[in-house]
Amino acid sequence: MDTQECVAVIGAGPAGLMAAETIAAAGLAVTMFDRMPSPGRKLLMAGRGGLNLTHSEALPAFLDRYGPARPQLEAAIAAFPPAALIGWCEALGQPTFVGSSGRVFPQGLKASPLLRAWLRRLGGMGVHLQTRRSWTGWDADGALAFADGLRIRPPATVLALGGASWPRLGSNGAWTGLLPGIDIRPLRPANCGFRIAWSAPFGRFAGTPLKRIALSFGGRTVRGEAMVTAAGIEGGAVYALSAALRDAIAATGPVVATIDLRPDLDAAALARRLAGPRGSASLSTFLRKAAGLAPVGIGLVQEALHAGALPDLPTLIKAVPLRLLEPAPIARAISSAGGIALDELDTHWMLRRRPGVFAAGEMLDWEAPTGGYLLQACFSTGAAAGRGVLEWLKAGQE
Ligand SMILES: Cc1cc2nc3c(=O)[nH]c(=O)nc-3n(C[C@H](O)[C@H](O)[C@H](O)COP(=O)(O)OP(=O)(O)OC[C@H]3O[C@@H](n4cnc5c(N)ncnc54)[C@H](O)[C@@H]3O)c2cc1C
Repeated sequence: MDTQECVAVIGAGPAGLMAAETIAAAGLAVTMFDRMPSPGRKLLMAGRGGLNLTHSEALPAFLDRYGPARPQLEAAIAAFPPAALIGWCEALGQPTFVGSSGRVFPQGLKASPLLRAWLRRLGGMGVHLQTRRSWTGWDADGALAFADGLRIRPPATVLALGGASWPRLGSNGAWTGLLPGIDIRPLRPANCGFRIAWSAPFGRFAGTPLKRIALSFGGRTVRGEAMVTAAGIEGGAVYALSAALRDAIAATGPVVATIDLRPDLDAAALARRLAGPRGSASLSTFLRKAAGLAPVGIGLVQEALHAGALPDLPTLIKAVPLRLLEPAPIARAISSAGGIALDELDTHWMLRRRPGVFAAGEMLDWEAPTGGYLLQACFSTGAAAGRGVLEWLKAGQE
């Protein structure tokens, strides 16, 4: 079929692929375009971490993870909820399991077999994929324009161009300049690390994990792990608080978070352990033996002491301060906040100011923590935008 007559889906990540599948399943012809040489690169990257597809918690709690975007996302996620995503994954020959934290993964803990099976199925449905096609907006005649000169006038278009994290995987956020007149909130790092001005001696801990810690900020405490980087800190516990940390820094400048280096030991037990005589032991040896701290934890205590903290060791170990200067660059973040304001879309995920153009996935202004919430919302909004296209085309015919 002529590309001109096919519905165009631009962006072949999870959201775009799901939109294409929904439209093709209704018997319509679909062409997908992606600027990269192959589709789903970020999905494949997510697979390196085990591919946390979704989460098994009850839907009301699940939906709360989307914070202020919940009202708009709710219908899309209810229509294609975690159970449907799990069923979809299993139908592609990838059984899933629920991890100890409630997170859902494919048993193979990889994205590549899932993506391969999915692309095969889409090909069988007649979905045509054109790679190395970079969308550049609309030309003066209202046709979709691509960098290589291609111009098309599809009956409907789905944009699923992603956010701006890990731009080398394809989603570079350049689309924010291609939608004049549409309210687009600045793309900001989400689930991101933070910059800290470590002392030169502490720099040797770059790449060292901080295991079994609890990170606190703004009245919230998250247990987990973090990773010291040359420029600061990243990792699961940091990501979990990153939205609050990022917004506080944006509002008032650098903030102080605290790390409990021994969350399993209460302050009194720790104080008893540290009450014994230190003798001729160095501070490092004393902290290692009496408090069971790893070298990186000892390093953090020493950083705090050098910065002028009171030498109250039990208190420091339970709440060693970290001065976070700014979020790490968006290119290193797991995801992006910001994007097309949700009230620019009607309930069918169509841009109110661009009839016939739908949008889905991470390019929309919502954010969520890690735990499978990101992919779930991308799949669900992709499916919803696909249904929106079908309804809009049907209404046009009628
Ligand atoms: C390291 C890492 C690990 C992750 N792990 C998980 C996880 O375990 N669980 C989870 O839920 N989420 C995870 N995520 C997040 C998740 O991968 C993303 O939220 C999801 O891929 C976004 O889907 P999307 O379809 O909206 O956009 P993307 O997957 O970013 O796809 C957008 C596509 O649009 C294309 N594109 C962009 N601009 C243009 C243009 N102008 N013309 C043509 N094509 C264009 C891009 O090339 C890209 O292929 C992870 C992310 C990263 C970086």
